[in-house]
Amino acid sequence: MRTFNTDVMIIGAGPAGSTAAALIQKAGFDCMIIEKQTFPRFVIGESLLPRCMDLLDEAGLLDAVKAENFMLKDGAVFKRGSETCTFRFDQQFTSGWGYTYQVPRERFDQVLAETVASKGVPILWQHGVTDVEFREDGSSVSMLEAPDGSQVSVTARFILDGSGYGRVLPRLLDLDEASMLPLRESYFTHVTGDRRPVGEGEGRIWICILDDPDNAWMWIIPFSDGKTSVGVVAKPDFLARYPEDPDEKLRAIIDDNVNTRGRLANCEFTFPVKRISGYSISAKKLYGKGFALMGNATEFLDPVFSSGVTLALESANRAAKTLIAQLQGESPDWQTAYVDHLMLGVDTFRTFVTAWYDDRLPTIFYSPIKPEVLQQQICSVLAGYVWDEENPCVRHHERTVEVIAKACAQYG
Ligand SMILES: Cc1cc2nc3c(=O)[nH]c(=O)nc-3n(C[C@H](O)[C@H](O)[C@H](O)COP(=O)(O)OP(=O)(O)OC[C@H]3O[C@@H](n4cnc5c(N)ncnc54)[C@H](O)[C@@H]3O)c2cc1C
Repeated sequence: MRTFNTDVMIIGAGPAGSTAAALIQKAGFDCMIIEKQTFPRFVIGESLLPRCMDLLDEAGLLDAVKAENFMLKDGAVFKRGSETCTFRFDQQFTSGWGYTYQVPRERFDQVLAETVASKGVPILWQHGVTDVEFREDGSSVSMLEAPDGSQVSVTARFILDGSGYGRVLPRLLDLDEASMLPLRESYFTHVTGDRRPVGEGEGRIWICILDDPDNAWMWIIPFSDGKTSVGVVAKPDFLARYPEDPDEKLRAIIDDNVNTRGRLANCEFTFPVKRISGYSISAKKLYGKGFALMGNATEFLDPVFSSGVTLALESANRAAKTLIAQLQGESPDWQTAYVDHLMLGVDTFRTFVTAWYDDRLPTIFYSPIKPEVLQQQICSVLAGYVWDEENPCVRHHERTVEVIAKACAQYG
């Protein structure tokens, strides 16, 4: 059996895995990434938030991303019938990046992984982690399955799990926990023939609210190669109103809405429509002796505010820094250094997601009485600056959303 020995074994070469690897390698510790697939591989989650730019920069990955000429995203546009609410990231409360990118993930993830590999981090491609045994001192021996079916073992001082929807350690250690959010599904594809806005605003994501009391919505995410990502997110009962065949379903939903129809009426799908369901999930704990979870292996909320990659990068950044302190002989408190920090951002997004679907947030978005400073504070949340406690929409997220939504409903 082939065997490896490393300080840190990282599961998954997605954005969480690559970011953690870059930071650990920079700090002078050995790490290796185990990735089940070969890249490029498709994964959904293509619209970044400006906060990603800080995190990519800190990991030494931003220059490689910038060199790809991805579509520049400088804001988000929320459409409801004839109403439009636009957030421009250069007009926000928190001082941060005014733009980010729309990224086909097969290329984005490959660039991150290749950059990390070029810095000297070994990546075992097409090796899936199948089993992990922890020892008393937190070190572990993991079993991997190689492409030829043979077994490989990795001994590590610590494991960072960035396995995304694979959820390797949550499954092996029985850490999966049901999400508080109700079941929603998504149908999506890439298209050609999107009639985009020309000039300013070309790269902004459009979120189009559909005719549904539960605020089902569609995304339109333009890429720089001329293709556009299109998808719907809704509860099963909304989706059941449309044809069963996934291509026909998505086409019918597009045609049913004035905003999506306006851009996509004559578009062509570049691959058969894909479906993903039951993606909202949580974890009983985010760390234990010898391991920590990152990215989607922790908790995934909902796609509506494009928070997934931002939370993957932030969790990787924090987990890596906490681990580096530990490997340097300190005794960091993982609860405060990692979990409490991460959850401030997750909980802020959770409040926004809940308020989206129960209509409090659209009530605020389309209110004529919404003050400019509130627009900027909300914009910073939508830009991913959900750790800025100077922002009342972060520090008192629940109360702020509740009070403002009531005022907007009453007077707006
Ligand atoms: C419908 C939908 C739309 C979304 N839209 C957005 C969006 O616009 N913007 C956004 O930021 N996020 C979005 N997301 C969320 C986004 O997909 C994820 O948050 C993001 O991909 C998480 O990154 P990650 O690094 O944690 O995991 P991933 O990117 O999923 O990477 C995990 C890697 O681990 C590997 N792996 C799995 N199992 C094993 C194993 N046993 N051994 C070794 N390797 C393994 C996988 O092959 C994979 O490459 C969306 C999600 C959904 C469901």
